[in-house]
Amino acid sequence: MTTIKEPGRTIPVAAEYDVLVVGGGMAGVAAGIAAARHGVRVCLIERYCGVGGLATLGNVTIWLPICDGMGHQVIAGMGEELLRLSVSDLGDEYKAAQWRSIPECWQPGGDLRQRVEHRFSSRFNPASYMLALEKLVVDAGVHVLYDTRFCNVRREGDRITHVILENKDGRSALAGKVILDTSGDADVCNASGEATVSSDSNVLCGWFYTLSDGEVTLHQLSHRYDPMAAREHATGPFFKGDVADDVTQQILQTRASLRDMLARIRAEQSGRDVQLIMPATMACFRMSRRLVGRGTVQGSDVHKWTETAIGLTGDWRRCGPVFAIPFESMCPVRTCNLLAAGRCISVDNTAWDVLRAIPACVVTGQAAGTAAAMACATTGGRMGDLSVSDLQADLLDQGVLIKRSLLAEHRRRADIPR
Ligand SMILES: Cc1cc2nc3c(=O)[nH]c(=O)nc-3n(C[C@H](O)[C@H](O)[C@H](O)COP(=O)(O)OP(=O)(O)OC[C@H]3O[C@@H](n4cnc5c(N)ncnc54)[C@H](O)[C@@H]3O)c2cc1C
Repeated sequence: MTTIKEPGRTIPVAAEYDVLVVGGGMAGVAAGIAAARHGVRVCLIERYCGVGGLATLGNVTIWLPICDGMGHQVIAGMGEELLRLSVSDLGDEYKAAQWRSIPECWQPGGDLRQRVEHRFSSRFNPASYMLALEKLVVDAGVHVLYDTRFCNVRREGDRITHVILENKDGRSALAGKVILDTSGDADVCNASGEATVSSDSNVLCGWFYTLSDGEVTLHQLSHRYDPMAAREHATGPFFKGDVADDVTQQILQTRASLRDMLARIRAEQSGRDVQLIMPATMACFRMSRRLVGRGTVQGSDVHKWTETAIGLTGDWRRCGPVFAIPFESMCPVRTCNLLAAGRCISVDNTAWDVLRAIPACVVTGQAAGTAAAMACATTGGRMGDLSVSDLQADLLDQGVLIKRSLLAEHRRRADIPR
């Protein structure tokens, strides 16, 4: 490959914040709001023109369960708040669109026996959810920078001093005490020289809706993927989410499949006027690149307590399993004032399929935002000096479910040997 030398340049530092959140998906939304609610100055940087990431712009419109599937809640705090918000404007069930409110039994005072039968989840309208999330972020006092791409970091020793951005103003920098990588792709961790792993097993996928005689229908276009992030049980072609050409090819080939699928639907429904509405407007990669952090969640960690747990999550695929998420799975090794949250935290190939789901992304987002605000106040942004027990106490105050005894109860109920 031939190379050229880009001339060095001096760029303006456009502003200074306590916390810089890079990426406005579900993790970034939770992180930004959690930090802002602690009274620090927060800027959320998002390359597209809406928040929610895959959940809204990618049409991934199922809020997977925040219970253990055995009738007990596993996630509360912002997990429950944002789940309830997802269907807050849903007056009726829209069966065709598959938008579906939270089961009645999970409303306050609901029938406890029914909770074993129905999981605590929702299916939402991505357009109205994006608007509701955006309002919540702005109302919390987060400064949003849309249409702005994170490009690089400026480091001094083990600390990031600035993030470097590009938008309509050209190239500029923002100073921040703590940086949160909620890019889904570990972009900040990667630019900071942290170790990362990337998956080469992503498949064609892109959910879309059609409108036909007033009926809105969701089509979950996706090739089969391998839950162990391998290719063995998946249907190719395969793509990497951190390779530019792969990203474009995944989008182009998914859209070619979409056109074929739409033609089939129209042929099956001849006589009806089937219109495409709302195709996914971002690349739908289940796992692109993730951090290799100070600690890694393993698939074998089911029901295993960790003293540094910042929250719990159930397993959307099965009833019973519950994971405690350790603070260290968000912590990079080299950089003292950086945390990852969302689908790019440190997990192994057997745990990623659980930890990438919206509920777990919001749990880590809330924890990262809270940790960032606390570190600004107490440690000058250094995560290594933060008292994790103080963080846990703050999260408990916010309603987050963390206690060891809860995990023990989940284990007993699931009857899984230790
Ligand atoms: C096909 C598919 C189906 C799925 N089904 C479900 C499901 O039914 N239920 C469920 O709970 N989960 C599902 N998931 C997983 C889940 O949707 C995602 O893992 C989760 O929403 C990720 O949230 P996040 O905030 O970590 O990342 P993302 O949603 O990826 O958000 C990252 C944000 O960062 C922004 N960003 C990235 N790079 C930059 C940059 N350099 N500069 C500025 N901004 C940047 C992006 O634009 C994006 O808004 C599915 C995923 C896929 C792909």
